[in-house]
Amino acid sequence: MAVESAVSIPTANPECEKHAKALQFIDEMTKNCDAVQEKVIGEILSRNADTEYLKRFQLNGATNRDTYKAKVPVITYEDLLPEIQRIANGDRSPILSSHPISEFLTSSGTSAGERKLMPTIAEEMDRRQLLYSLLMPVMNLYVPGLDKGKGLYFLFIKAETKTPGGLVARPVLTSFYKSEQFKKRPFDPYLVYTSPNEAILCADSFQSMYTQMLCGLIMREEVLRVGAVFASGLLRAIKFLQLNWKQLADDISSGILNPRIADPSIKECMSKILKPNPELAQLITKECEGENWASIIPRIWPNTKYVDVIVTGAMAQYIPTLDYYSGGLPLPCTMYASSECYFGLNLKPMTKPSETCYTIMPNMGYFEFIPHDPVNPMPLSRDSPPRLVDLADLEVGKEYELVISTYSGLCRYRVGDILLVTGFYNSAPQFKFIRRKNVLLSIDSDKTDESELQKAVENASKLLNEFNTRVVEYTSHGDTRTIPGHYVIYWELHVKDPENAPTQEVLNKCCLVMEESMNSVYRQGRVADNSIGPLEIRVVKNGTFEELMDYAISRGASINQYKPPRCVNFAPILELLNARAVSAHFSPSTPHWTPERRG
Ligand code: AMP
Repeated sequence: MAVESAVSIPTANPECEKHAKALQFIDEMTKNCDAVQEKVIGEILSRNADTEYLKRFQLNGATNRDTYKAKVPVITYEDLLPEIQRIANGDRSPILSSHPISEFLTSSGTSAGERKLMPTIAEEMDRRQLLYSLLMPVMNLYVPGLDKGKGLYFLFIKAETKTPGGLVARPVLTSFYKSEQFKKRPFDPYLVYTSPNEAILCADSFQSMYTQMLCGLIMREEVLRVGAVFASGLLRAIKFLQLNWKQLADDISSGILNPRIADPSIKECMSKILKPNPELAQLITKECEGENWASIIPRIWPNTKYVDVIVTGAMAQYIPTLDYYSGGLPLPCTMYASSECYFGLNLKPMTKPSETCYTIMPNMGYFEFIPHDPVNPMPLSRDSPPRLVDLADLEVGKEYELVISTYSGLCRYRVGDILLVTGFYNSAPQFKFIRRKNVLLSIDSDKTDESELQKAVENASKLLNEFNTRVVEYTSHGDTRTIPGHYVIYWELHVKDPENAPTQEVLNKCCLVMEESMNSVYRQGRVADNSIGPLEIRVVKNGTFEELMDYAISRGASINQYKPPRCVNFAPILELLNARAVSAHFSPSTPHWTPERRG
């Protein structure tokens, strides 16, 4: 077992007592990884012994791992749907958890086109809060002085709904920002944000973003770190500055808030923050008015030490753009979490994004791992499941799929993330996030899989029937060169009667039909968050997909097994597709989306 020690405990500075405790906690958890895991599963099984779900597997009071592994199946969300639906419809009996379900957290992973509903219990908030409380103590080891200024973080809430049984359903971060733990957090010099709570909690995304940006500009010299949850969110903020800097500078110059900001609580708090400052307005104008936006982050916020966004997984595509705007500032990814469970943190945050590793905190839930062979993925049968590996028994250099059991009542639930073990911190393994299974396209938090894309193409291509035209082949690409990024779908068409070829208008409409077919996270990104741009269909010349095959075969693909890829990211193939494009079409409007769930 490769053991490395990244976290050393500061002792000299009395101000760091809280941090020292946090670091000690990390050390204890990671040193006793297996024992903590045994304790966690014991606690989960004893408190949930009388739940309908666990009783079904006749554990007969057993709270040990072996019995649990032998009797309880490994499941996916779809397996749990009947239970989830009953809870959503108002059944308050202990179905999954002995503790009352406090709300549903809506995942960005979808099932049948809708966000997955993850039942959670009140105490999970404290567990999440605990993980958050570990982040700054670790960061402080690498970047000193973070208590001497503020963080400019673009944080947003999203729409929430109620299930038929009256439980709130909302994303985990919305739940967190609206919690008392966040709103009434005690003063901590390491956690001072430029964004007022009033702005973060404003449901109108324009007013929220405008106010957060305005405050960030006003407090520019105090800003020590700039961030958002995901890279795409920060890039959206920069785009917002590009579009709105004139108005923002006007507000700063005059001390009068843009009348579009109508939220009374924001107006009230901004009346204390916004004062006429023509000098600052001039500086912002000077930096923003030109074409050159390289290094705009350090130009406007000169004391920024790092950019705090997740750039691992699907977000890696944004690293070059972030480097451009940040002038190459460090991009630490601090934590790894999901609606189902918060997993862990990065103990060496200042390493390059490509080397980012997360350490799962063994107190957060019980973690098991399905060995994952990228070449021959193992089919998982419920009758003869493979022996899942425990957290402390993983092997360096191997890939695994993450399976969790939580205090909220998820039992042996497949998250869908593939992780590679890169080493150990004490006895806790460290992971590189490899990918989420079955995700073909992702611009923001949307995750579109192959079958969703296939269905969307099928639905859209029905519009071509009356033109005696069909889609012969297709592939896709998430184009993130513009902000927001957008899906590009390459279509090769067979037009039987060129005199009656589909019109521009029809092909535009095909784009919209595809968007209407996408899952609700995609459509929310298009409609409410403006985080995804209009879908584009690029029609390519006849014979393009044959060329694609020739190219793949010339690079060693087997002619018998060749299937056109449904998503391409490899630059030479994209170049080929773009060189063969004969027309481009965009959605003429946004698809339908409301917070309510369909069906
Ligand atoms: P959600 O259920 O919407 O909260 O999304 C959780 C998923 O986001 C995880 O299961 C991962 O696939 C992805 N994710 C979360 N944190 C990270 C991270 N630090 N790096 C890469 N992917 C992440």
